[in-house]
Amino acid sequence: MGVSPRDSRFSAKGALAMSALPEWIDAHAHWAQAFPQGADEAALAKQLAGLRAQGMSVSIQAGVDEADWKRQLELAARDPDWFRPVLGLHPWWVKEHSESDCSTALDELERVLELHQARVAGVGELGLDFSRTGKSSKALQLAVFERQLELASRFAKPLVLHLVHAHERSLEILTRHAAGRPLKGIVHAFSGSIETARQYLALGLKLSVGPGLSEPGRFLSLKKALPQLRPEDWVLESDWAGEKFFRAAQAASGLTGRPVAEIARQTTENLQQTGLLG
Ligand SMILES: [Zn+2]
Repeated sequence: MGVSPRDSRFSAKGALAMSALPEWIDAHAHWAQAFPQGADEAALAKQLAGLRAQGMSVSIQAGVDEADWKRQLELAARDPDWFRPVLGLHPWWVKEHSESDCSTALDELERVLELHQARVAGVGELGLDFSRTGKSSKALQLAVFERQLELASRFAKPLVLHLVHAHERSLEILTRHAAGRPLKGIVHAFSGSIETARQYLALGLKLSVGPGLSEPGRFLSLKKALPQLRPEDWVLESDWAGEKFFRAAQAASGLTGRPVAEIARQTTENLQQTGLLG
């Protein structure tokens, strides 16, 4: 269903009143990590209200491990318009766990996806991260990535991908997995070159960019690539609980020379195409 995030919350009058403020969607967030079970609920409510006051209306989550999925589903049960659950095993978690831990967690992921498939927006974050050496092998990361891709196919869910220092291998696997059909989803925290960007785009994916854009002297290839991308190619993320989102939006506006309101409209439309909004 291509339901606009605005439809469920605003009457025609409300939409009119909000028209001066651009509507934003955070493409990749970790509220279940920022506010795990037992966290300060008043602080969570305050943060949510602050972001809503700035025009954010939806936050697409990203999964880490079983405890994270449970918390995401709790938050989504409470506030389904805002929290869109995305469940998966984060490559950093995989790096710190054994083959048997991963196998158990993947079985649980399958069970939870089956049980909550109507409420889950996507599978992730899944992928490869060869930037740091963890306890587990590259082979285990590859196997867990493949199994999660299979689960995403089986439940027809878009992908939230974490691909770091592993573009060549990732592109090879994703191309095989796509088998000529367009993939749906995002490459989160994209930071490669324009050439790499175009290969993911050719597969049907969108690129998600965020706080790195506003960090002086860092992420130079991303800052160079962004103005060369088409407006329909990318979306914006906080990669936590909204904090740095608006600074990233301002930086994106500065780099591309496009007004922030236009970026808000376009990134929302782009996210609708990823399937992550249902
Ligand atoms: Zn993340």
